[in-house]
Amino acid sequence: MDPGTAILMAALMILLNGGVLGLVQRDLPEDLRPSAVSWRIATLLHAGGCVLLALQTEASKVLVLPLANGLLLLGLAGYWRALRQFYGLDEYFGMLVPVLLGVIAIFWFVAVHESFPLRVAMVSLAWFWLLLGCIRTLYSTADRRGGSSRNVLAGMFAVAATFMMLRALYFLGVSDSPSGLLDQRNWLNVVTPMVVAVIPVIGTTTFLLMCSQRLTRRWESAASTDYLTGLANRRTVVAKGEALIAGAAASGADAALMVVDIDHFKQINDRHGHAVGDRAIQHVARQLAHSCSGFGSAGRLGGEEFIGLLANVEPAEALQIAEQLRKAIDESPLPLESKAEPVRLTVSIGVASRQSRDPDFAALLQRADQALYAAKAAGRNRVASAG
Ligand code: GH3
Ligand code: MG
Ligand code: MG
Repeated sequence: MDPGTAILMAALMILLNGGVLGLVQRDLPEDLRPSAVSWRIATLLHAGGCVLLALQTEASKVLVLPLANGLLLLGLAGYWRALRQFYGLDEYFGMLVPVLLGVIAIFWFVAVHESFPLRVAMVSLAWFWLLLGCIRTLYSTADRRGGSSRNVLAGMFAVAATFMMLRALYFLGVSDSPSGLLDQRNWLNVVTPMVVAVIPVIGTTTFLLMCSQRLTRRWESAASTDYLTGLANRRTVVAKGEALIAGAAASGADAALMVVDIDHFKQINDRHGHAVGDRAIQHVARQLAHSCSGFGSAGRLGGEEFIGLLANVEPAEALQIAEQLRKAIDESPLPLESKAEPVRLTVSIGVASRQSRDPDFAALLQRADQALYAAKAAGRNRVASAG
């Protein structure tokens, strides 16, 4: 196949892939759509650039080459933009610098000082710059669970960037360089369209996979997290508790639970409204999460009731942690948006440490509940230990 046909085939594949993305785009959640739209526009630019490259004639070179390469570079900048949007990062003007420099360089080495090697070298450099930008963006977020699709996409960009660099060095080094991209006596000219096509074709599939992985993670998180506080929900924290107690029973390690309940919470709702009640729940959740950090995890059992799981914590230390939490909440009333007095909040806490007679998590939770009941009966705003 001659390079011209190969490039046209590549353009067709790119358009088909972009079309698939267009079909599924509507099913993506609203926040991912701008990124998908950018990616799709980038595939169109890329395909347009390919068509122009394939149709170039000796006579039209001065006009067609800067335009075709400009479209290809703009397409790459489009993928970069899509990735920045995907990760919630701002776009900036600097992303267009390699596009502008590339187009100017091509025009110069076609119209003013004709040189195929220098032209290829400059375009390859611009490609390298944009591809590197894409890779950097892929790894710019702190999200360690980027998923395999992110690595695949970054790997593909890295292969393309390396190819572009080697291609530039090759053409700068050989003495009888081809007259242009469509000169099929040169094997690199046959390989280049494949590399150019691989980015949008594999890239678009991988980009869709990234969207899908993002959605899966989002649903997993929604199913395991309490929406109001961001703590683990009941199902998750119970599963964690069961694992903690089973592990501690097997190894003989210490483990404790504290069940936390806001005192007279109904009155807070009645006096200040449900919204303030919700904020009070968040306020207590934050402090519970803080006091459990380093020892274990925290969760919301439901309503205004929470649980803290404490791993490798001795009974006396568990009581101490609970008492510190009680005190911290007592001393940090909830500020109101109006100038009114902050709302005083107190909690009662039942603590139960694992003993050899506790068969499982449920038994320990029951003992912690009984201790909580005792703390309420003894006047609230206190910590009670299970017997
Ligand atoms: P006690 O000191 O004995 O724990 O008394 P209490 O008023 O805190 O307990 P009670 O169980 O009587 O009331 C709990 C209230 O919590 C009742 C319910 O309307 C309210 N509640 C449950 N879930 C939520 C929520 O998500 N937001 C708000 N604002 N209120 C909630
Ligand atoms: Mg309560
Ligand atoms: Mg309650």
